[in-house]
Amino acid sequence: MLRRNHWRADYCPRCRICVETHDHLLTCTHQQCIDTFRSSIEKMEVWLYSQHTPPKLILDILQLLTNWKQGIETVISTRHSPPIQTQIHLGNRHLIEGRITKHFSAFMDEHYASILSKKSGKRWSAMFIQKIWTLIHKPQWENRNTFVHKLNEEAVKTRLRENLQQELTTMYLSNLKETLLHNDRHLYDRSLSELLQSPNAHLMAWNEEMRVALSERDRQFQPDQQHQAAFMHKWLDRSRDRPPRQHQKKKRRVSTRVRKRISLLHHRQLKRQHPIPHSSDEESQPKRRKR
Ligand SMILES: [Zn+2]
Repeated sequence: MLRRNHWRADYCPRCRICVETHDHLLTCTHQQCIDTFRSSIEKMEVWLYSQHTPPKLILDILQLLTNWKQGIETVISTRHSPPIQTQIHLGNRHLIEGRITKHFSAFMDEHYASILSKKSGKRWSAMFIQKIWTLIHKPQWENRNTFVHKLNEEAVKTRLRENLQQELTTMYLSNLKETLLHNDRHLYDRSLSELLQSPNAHLMAWNEEMRVALSERDRQFQPDQQHQAAFMHKWLDRSRDRPPRQHQKKKRRVSTRVRKRISLLHHRQLKRQHPIPHSSDEESQPKRRKR
């Protein structure tokens, strides 16, 4: 819902405390989640008894599932059934996701043989994995969707108000009056309890104004931008003090001596090819340097 821009945050719609992940769907602390899980465990127990599962194994399985739900780590003990010990070593999470060890199948085969049943341990394992998904995961997902989508008119109004109050509380408590820009500090003029009792329109307006205030503050006081601006100011001041074109590379001086020599030779060659007639001998004499 967050990716599709339908929701502003990815909080769990039931408890509104944690981020809604796959695991949180089962571990949510909302009362509806707890009730649904309890109902699922009861149904699982009925199914396990219907499959003539040993009572010790039933207790261990249900205990392992409940512990995972409550966030309790189960330590391997000799009092556990053999397949449960292997499963704990593998990890409780694998059990709740339907990844069970092969020891369950072998253990149930032995048990069915001891009670002269024609049932198969492999079939028991396959059905158990299926029941984990249909009795535990599916009801939680359906409960969550019912909670979010199937609302009557009164529930829609209540949910809207709860969402607005939740958003306001989060923003009010996660910020401080002093951290806002001076013009936006009036948002903290009223206490949180007073604000929460306001009508929905006021809550909506406060939330929107606070979002704008936070973005404005972040825009002006972002540390990177401040550092960048300070550097640019410093650089500009330094470049003003510097004499013009000092930073440019000096042009390389090219000697014109060779070019002059070439033009002189060319001029002499032209003179030889087209000699100029002289009017007197005196002028034909080469000029001597004056001493
Ligand atoms: Zn939750």
